[in-house]
Amino acid sequence: MSPFLPFTCKLETFIEDLQNIVNENKTTITKLLAQQEKTYQNFVKPLEIMEENLEEFFTPLSHLNSVNNSETTQKIYTQSLPIITEYSTQLSQNLAIYEAYKTIQQKEKNLSKEQQRVLELNIQNFELSGAHLDTQTKARLQDINIKLSELSNNFSQNLLDATNAYEYIIDNEEDVSGLPQSEKEHAKFEENGKIKYKFTLQMPSYIAYMTYGNNRKIREELYKAYVTRAPQNAQIIDEILSLRDEMAHLLGFSNYAEYSIASKMAPNTQSVLEFLEELVEHSHPQAKKELQTLQTIAPHPLESFDTAYYSEKLKKEQYALDEEEYRPYFEQQSVVKGLFKFLEKLFHLEFSPIDIELWDDKAQAYDVYENKKLKARIFLDLEARESKRGGAWMHNWQSHSQTLNGDEKLASAFVVCNFPPSSPTQPSLLRHDDVVTLFHEMGHTIHHILSEVQESEVSGVNGVEWDAVEFPSQFLENFAYEPEVLKLFAKHIDTKEILPNNMIDKLVQTKNFLSAMGMLRQLEFSLFDFKLHMAPHKEKEVQHLLDTIREKTALIPTPSYNKFQNGFAHIFAGGYAAGYYSYKWAEVLSADSFYAVIDEGIFNSKTAQNYLHVILHRGGSQSMQTLFIELMQREADTKQLLRLNGIHE
Ligand SMILES: [Zn+2]
Repeated sequence: MSPFLPFTCKLETFIEDLQNIVNENKTTITKLLAQQEKTYQNFVKPLEIMEENLEEFFTPLSHLNSVNNSETTQKIYTQSLPIITEYSTQLSQNLAIYEAYKTIQQKEKNLSKEQQRVLELNIQNFELSGAHLDTQTKARLQDINIKLSELSNNFSQNLLDATNAYEYIIDNEEDVSGLPQSEKEHAKFEENGKIKYKFTLQMPSYIAYMTYGNNRKIREELYKAYVTRAPQNAQIIDEILSLRDEMAHLLGFSNYAEYSIASKMAPNTQSVLEFLEELVEHSHPQAKKELQTLQTIAPHPLESFDTAYYSEKLKKEQYALDEEEYRPYFEQQSVVKGLFKFLEKLFHLEFSPIDIELWDDKAQAYDVYENKKLKARIFLDLEARESKRGGAWMHNWQSHSQTLNGDEKLASAFVVCNFPPSSPTQPSLLRHDDVVTLFHEMGHTIHHILSEVQESEVSGVNGVEWDAVEFPSQFLENFAYEPEVLKLFAKHIDTKEILPNNMIDKLVQTKNFLSAMGMLRQLEFSLFDFKLHMAPHKEKEVQHLLDTIREKTALIPTPSYNKFQNGFAHIFAGGYAAGYYSYKWAEVLSADSFYAVIDEGIFNSKTAQNYLHVILHRGGSQSMQTLFIELMQREADTKQLLRLNGIHE
């Protein structure tokens, strides 16, 4: 019998089947709780398996809804959400389960590290939601949560309204002369027999003018409109910050940043600050030089609304990289095979295609072997089509684990991209960026499927801390710039010529173009977000904090009308509060271990083998902080990220 689930999703009976599983689970929970003597084996494990089975049932639907979206999938998906939400809310508030976890944690002394981690994470989940607190505190926490989600909602609504309310019409052809034809076409419209161009504050449109628009006055006006959007959000920020602070205190933390990192890899708030400040310090000198170079091509002192424009000019002058020139070297199927070959050489993996029916003709399935042993199955769905949501992602399906009677369960995952569609007459030719994306998603994929963990809740990507999740994906992505790796597969489709070194150099240089300036900008956001949540900030204090940080991160004085914070939706309307630093945090881990491999020689690297055993095999079974130190025998070194970005002190 195949160890993998066949890909099926019976849409006609899905809701009924889901409801049945949920009802059965509820009965099982009652039975499990009624047991006198609860142990890991008779209580935690069955609960874990029950949850995993529900996931496995649900994943094909959410996958189909993303890759073969139709009215039917949407309808069923929408119908299933309240069922799942009701069930998981009930579960997360069931204090009897929490008590049982606590007792088992105290009583059972011979649990494996993996089992301890399962208990630790489950208990933490309960405690971070406050489910274990007294009724009055719980009621207040619930009020705060409702209020916070209203405020976040208003924040994004205000921002959206302000973004949509603005437009700038250009009727002088001269003012759009610097724009690429495609951007001009986007902006173009006709009014009373005259050709005009419309620019808005929506991303592609705004960026287009800021990057290519040669009229400085217009750039300034667009910029000003952009950074002064939604002034009423200042009030909302005050309310959000005060509620978050109260919530953190109710849950026993001294500030919201502490609460945020409790479930992350970063050991304490100080370590986050130190790491960000170290990067600022080391990026600053080069960023200053980059700005000086940029200044040399501008006929006037640079201001905030000039940088994108002159950066583009300078980039053209220095590199003139034409993406189209690269495409013939990156035919989709040869890239996929090349990636497999690379993983075969690096980690002794083998990818063997299997012929089974899937949701689309273009989708492919492979069985994955590690050292000749069947390990996992992956599904690749790489080409864009109308029914597929945009972007690229890895979606884990089954997780490696041990069943109740001790059998080994294997893992599976979906890899989804939106590459140009191929046809019998037209191959799918990728940009280098696409190649990087595929490596990135495959990094997530092998993190999930190569797991050797016995407990599904901490197997593969399950249970991995939020600020560490992107580590394995970025690790692998870095190899997509390495000549030794690219030359395994980057062959010109017609001439069969291997991608020459100078073209590879150009890719790296373009990636690192003005990287120190870019780094400082990301650090400014990260520091602002983190410090803002480390102590209560009210009204003017928010701006004051931002100004203080900018003294070290902004090389061009920011105009005083700039109210960037009112548009910082990541932290006020998204999930990034006191977590924006995670991008850089994971980048440091990946750059550091990546260079260890490079410096040892990619294909004889001891670190690569350790990476397989420590990081990939062990998934979320321990904090990434512990695993990383085991891998490198030391804490992460920020210098390696600077090296990756071509930042030299
Ligand atoms: Zn990712």
